Amino acid sequence: MSDPVPLGLVATARALAARELSSVELTGALLERIACANPVLNAFITVDPEVSLRQAAAADERIARGDAGPLTGVPVAHKDIFMARGWRTTCASRMLAGFVAPYDAHVIEQFDAAGAVNMGKLNMDEFAMGSSSESSFFGPVRNPWDITRVPGGSSGGSAAAVAAGLVPAATATDTGGSIRQPAALCGVSGLKPTYGLVSRYGMIAYASSLDQAGPIARNAEDLAVLMNLMAGHDRRDATSLARPAEDYRRDLQRTLKGLRVGLPRAYFADGMSPDVRAGVESAIAVLRRLGAEPVEVELPRVELALPAYYVIAPAEASSNLSRFDGVRYGHRAASYGDLADMYSRTRAEGFGPEVRRRILIGAFVLCHGYYDAYYLQAQRVRRLIAEDFASAFEQCDVIAGPTSPTVAFALGAHADDPLQMYLSDIYTIAPNLAGLPAMSIPCGFGVHGLPVGLQLVGNYFTEARMLGIAAAFQRETEWHLRAPAAMTP
Ligand code: GLN
Repeated sequence: MSDPVPLGLVATARALAARELSSVELTGALLERIACANPVLNAFITVDPEVSLRQAAAADERIARGDAGPLTGVPVAHKDIFMARGWRTTCASRMLAGFVAPYDAHVIEQFDAAGAVNMGKLNMDEFAMGSSSESSFFGPVRNPWDITRVPGGSSGGSAAAVAAGLVPAATATDTGGSIRQPAALCGVSGLKPTYGLVSRYGMIAYASSLDQAGPIARNAEDLAVLMNLMAGHDRRDATSLARPAEDYRRDLQRTLKGLRVGLPRAYFADGMSPDVRAGVESAIAVLRRLGAEPVEVELPRVELALPAYYVIAPAEASSNLSRFDGVRYGHRAASYGDLADMYSRTRAEGFGPEVRRRILIGAFVLCHGYYDAYYLQAQRVRRLIAEDFASAFEQCDVIAGPTSPTVAFALGAHADDPLQMYLSDIYTIAPNLAGLPAMSIPCGFGVHGLPVGLQLVGNYFTEARMLGIAAAFQRETEWHLRAPAAMTP
């Protein structure tokens, strides 16, 4: 097996377990590939070959001893929002450009305990705010399908690294679409779990009531294996749910006969570009051929999701980011007058323009006098949107629609127009407001040969079923097997 990575995580794990190759060989080969591709793609902020190779050698020993798990020796890279002890952890911000994490996030602990190899820390939008991975202090990530275009965001480094075959899988986070939208734009698969399923401990907070970690990989089976590792109760996150452990692979072979697929009228009105519509409609035809029945559903208030989100997310961000004040850790301005001046210089220097914009909006909507009109109103809308989904799920088992209104756009296309950028998440934000699980899988190619993603939204805790739907779709199609030409070795 000369190049297992394009085959995905499970195939890679199988090759390692069968001793067809060693983790050290594989890790070394991928590090070389990263060294070659990263100057162009900029998907990684930090790599540390010595540490990765040391972990690979330990994994090889574990495999030789016969106590390997399903991910032992498998290379995985992590969004630079997860604290990984001893690794520089920046959240793509100047504020944390020199920060070395003193402890591991829950998610990182799970990968370490499984014996996975940490391949490095992935680039992203600064503090996960954005839809293009251009707001990083370390420069924009490029889409491996077309390096003049964005990979989506904020987990653009994760999606680009998987799409380019630099790693078989990556971790990511999703506050309003940051797993699904980059997965769609890079032609890979991504899952945002039900809120509370994966611990947020050690994940740098953006909007805590919306943030959720999940995997990006090449196919549904790989996502299921990653979910088996990532999900689970953790006392250190007060919103982490205590639920019996599940095997997320359990429905991978299940038929789609009788599955009711809800098509929200609002998602299929205008807004989607014609090439995205064509991909999504052909995907629905495939689901129908597999035995699913499409049903039209209503999400009457879903159009309010975007404005509600852009009140709630900045409000929470303005509070979460107050900890970056130059006192405790991170950047501090070199020269300043009094304490207040130190705070304001530090924050003005440390945060990029998008992060500053969010902090200002957040502080504004929370201030006395405007709180009821904006924040409280947005919370009410959030509740109504969750109710809309609850009624839709009385009529269907899963909702299908587009992930992103367009294929990958050009770098700089929305540079002067934040509202245009915010509109990239028009289809992905509502599930975060409701806390529902949602995923994106490749379903075709649009203009310029760029990938199109199908979004599936499920009811709470139906991840296994959703992964089964995605797996059935992927047995029938081969969109997820395509790799960008320039990146195939
Ligand atoms: N693009 C959205 C935002 O900027 C979502 C980002 C995310 O999911 N982290 O807030």
